[in-house]
Amino acid sequence: MKTVYFDNNATTKVAEEVLKEMKPLFCELYGNPSSMHTFGGQIGRKIRRAREQVAGLLSCDPSEIIFTSCGTESDNTAIKGTLTAVPNKRKIITTRVEHPAVLTVCKELENHGYTLVELAVDKQGRLDMAELEDQIDDDTALVTIMYANNETGVVFPIDKIAELVANRGVVFHTDAVQAIGKIPLNLSKSNIDLLSLSGHKLHAPKGVGALYVRKGTRLSPFMLGGHQEAGRRAGTENVPGIVGLGKACELAANNIEEENEKVKYLRDKLEKVILKKCPQCQLNGDKDNRLPNTTNISFEYIEGEAILLMLDKYGICASSGSACTSGSLEPSHVLRAMGVPFTAAHGSIRFSLSRYNTEKEVDYTIEKMPEVVNRLRELSPFVST
Ligand code: PLP
Repeated sequence: MKTVYFDNNATTKVAEEVLKEMKPLFCELYGNPSSMHTFGGQIGRKIRRAREQVAGLLSCDPSEIIFTSCGTESDNTAIKGTLTAVPNKRKIITTRVEHPAVLTVCKELENHGYTLVELAVDKQGRLDMAELEDQIDDDTALVTIMYANNETGVVFPIDKIAELVANRGVVFHTDAVQAIGKIPLNLSKSNIDLLSLSGHKLHAPKGVGALYVRKGTRLSPFMLGGHQEAGRRAGTENVPGIVGLGKACELAANNIEEENEKVKYLRDKLEKVILKKCPQCQLNGDKDNRLPNTTNISFEYIEGEAILLMLDKYGICASSGSACTSGSLEPSHVLRAMGVPFTAAHGSIRFSLSRYNTEKEVDYTIEKMPEVVNRLRELSPFVST
């Protein structure tokens, strides 16, 4: 049975072009970029090129890119590195719908005496800009707000938020792990100070990420040790991963518009037919301000996990809640923050597409979904017949 992979917000397939660029870095060009010899120097050039490719996608200067091991490390570095660099301020503002890579860090800092404000969202997952403005005060060290939500795909108006925060003289970080490669960005025209991204969400391998640090932003290093990354992130570089990330960014930069169009068409078809053919289901999130690849649908009175298991039998991979919280019986914190009732939040499924999905796969899933939902409804103790 062929796998139909609709779980691209959890991770993506490594692009063939990316793998091809990476291969020589394992057994041929395996030197340490910090070494003095010519062999090591070649590797240094590969990293420089990758830095330019990442900067090209983000429209920033290559010197503003620090390579990390993942999105989580980039988020940790941005948050903790800012607080260390701004020791006289003790307030952090974030939202209730962040990924655990941000929320858990912020909550831990709250236990260490920081004041934490988690901004609410409305039923469609949107922020109240006035509340954000009210919360920023002289004690605020950092505002950290995600670009696009991993569960619902809801996109926040990040450029407007960054401008508002900059006008108050506060550092602004955005976790753009889900946005990069799916939304065109121009950091040279934005007030974002710090931005996190992760390779494995945009067809590069797992184990590599990056942090954009705008020139002039005060940031203490999170990983201490050697002088890699100009002393901003110690540890011998994951050269194949970095080279792969560079290539993935180049591919995204060259094809973002046409890929978005294709992916959005497939996502819209999948969503429209499921909402039409499956009774008692609803779309979660702001329909108009979403990633082109993501749809999150709640099926009342059935467990998301049960839907996943039945889809799995047909070779269809999706997700309930976020990948990181699945396995727990708690409904997603994102859907709870949006006020989605428990009966619906428990039965939520996220389909997240990529450039590699086909219309045939969408048609196959559309055919199976009503069957799966109807079968589970028949078994549900909550549905009266
Ligand atoms: N932030 C968001 C919004 C994510 O979706 C994820 C991963 O799912 C992360 C951060 C963590 O990224 P990584 O898996 O590279 O650590």
